[in-house]
Amino acid sequence: MSRSAHPAGPRHGDVLPEGHYAAPPADLNVLDEKVWARTVERDEEGEVRIGGVGVRALAEEFGTPAYFLDETDFRARCRAWREAFGADADVFYAGKAFLSRAVVRWLTEEGLNLDVCSGGELSTALVGGMPAGRIAFHGNNKSAAEIERAVEAGVGRIVVDSFEEIERVAAAARTAGVRQGVQIRVTVGVEAHTHEFIATAHEDQKFGLSLAGGTAAEAVRRALAEDSLELLGLHSHIGSQIFDMSGFEVSARRVVALLAQVRDEHGVELAEIDLGGGLGIAYTSEDDPQGPAEIAKALREIVGRECEVARLAVPRISVEPGRAIVGPTAFTLYRVGTIKPLPGLRTYVSVDGGMSDNIRTALYDAEYSVALASRRSDAPPMLARVVGKHCESGDIVVRDAYLPADTGPGDLIAVPATGAYCRSMASNYNHTPRPPVVAVADGRAGAIVRRETEEDLLRLDVG
Ligand SMILES: *Cc1c(COP(=O)(O)O)cnc(C)c1O
Repeated sequence: MSRSAHPAGPRHGDVLPEGHYAAPPADLNVLDEKVWARTVERDEEGEVRIGGVGVRALAEEFGTPAYFLDETDFRARCRAWREAFGADADVFYAGKAFLSRAVVRWLTEEGLNLDVCSGGELSTALVGGMPAGRIAFHGNNKSAAEIERAVEAGVGRIVVDSFEEIERVAAAARTAGVRQGVQIRVTVGVEAHTHEFIATAHEDQKFGLSLAGGTAAEAVRRALAEDSLELLGLHSHIGSQIFDMSGFEVSARRVVALLAQVRDEHGVELAEIDLGGGLGIAYTSEDDPQGPAEIAKALREIVGRECEVARLAVPRISVEPGRAIVGPTAFTLYRVGTIKPLPGLRTYVSVDGGMSDNIRTALYDAEYSVALASRRSDAPPMLARVVGKHCESGDIVVRDAYLPADTGPGDLIAVPATGAYCRSMASNYNHTPRPPVVAVADGRAGAIVRRETEEDLLRLDVG
């Protein structure tokens, strides 16, 4: 297995090396703008606010825990991606990061397209008003019903992930009397994660058709042979929370090589290449993500260069950022319930949510930051672990972070960068109703997904 590590990357993935704690920041009241949504600030009294509304009033109105999402920031990020990629490229927001009807409306208005990967996400996209032609449908095992619904709705592209699916989509399109646009999901043997990537990743995974194994080329042949399919291009997605473009470089080179092979074998130049998502964001001040302009420039250069070498016309490029758009736009607000100082170790700060509203720490060892939000404090820093209220010792929200030593019961604390993969992965563990998502902008706050109630949960329990 050959490895390529980022020269500036001593950190592996999201994991802090054992026994290593960063020094406390000079002032715990400072909110690092890299990590927090654009309109987040402290007012003169030191209370955190978002979109012009203070967290105490937000907690009063919406309760805790709750996700507060900066609509202004969300829209600005959409526009930045749209403008960076320009008119000859497409940006598909990856709906699995977080999707609701309001989000679909914002995306539609800001000119983004949308990736879905289940019938439920497809329904939300359609009900939210996304034109079907701007939707791409992903998944390694879409059901026949999902495929039929997508074809009937007129979804622009279905990203096919198996031989069976080529037949299923072709049959659904024949029945509907349409020619369905498809891309082929290619496994390029690159696995990227944060500061390193593996150029010869094992292909021992469920997604895609293998480039090295030849099944991708066979899928192209079969898709071209189906009259009811229009093969638009090739798709590759190499990982998540990526900071280093070199994984994309290898993946683009391999996909372009397949484009050239397709031209040589079939005399067809495919029009599109989708390089997937996975662009990283800052969860802590140590993370340094690139902006969409730099990413767009790098991807254009890579694809342009590879196409020149292969003497191919440059295909239409698309990307699929999820986390990079919605992740930084929200924080989770919790109320502190209990404080347990463990002398010589750390102080456990228990909040009213936990792994049911943020599973990423338990699932991926993800790192997060935290700040005292209801007030400012000049107390000295204490090494804290923010934990939830669930019946698991792994129920950790923020593994290691500093909070002011006078943080106590009743205080509100906020965990930033929880816009992606938190509400969308939330569970009802311990029969916990899931928190609301509240959009805030220009001094106004409104739930876009309301809080679940115990009644909601009991309604499913038919006795
Ligand atoms: C998950 C996923 C994305 C989005 O990943 P992010 O890390 O949120 O940018 C994009 N495309 C595909 C195919 C995915 O599976």
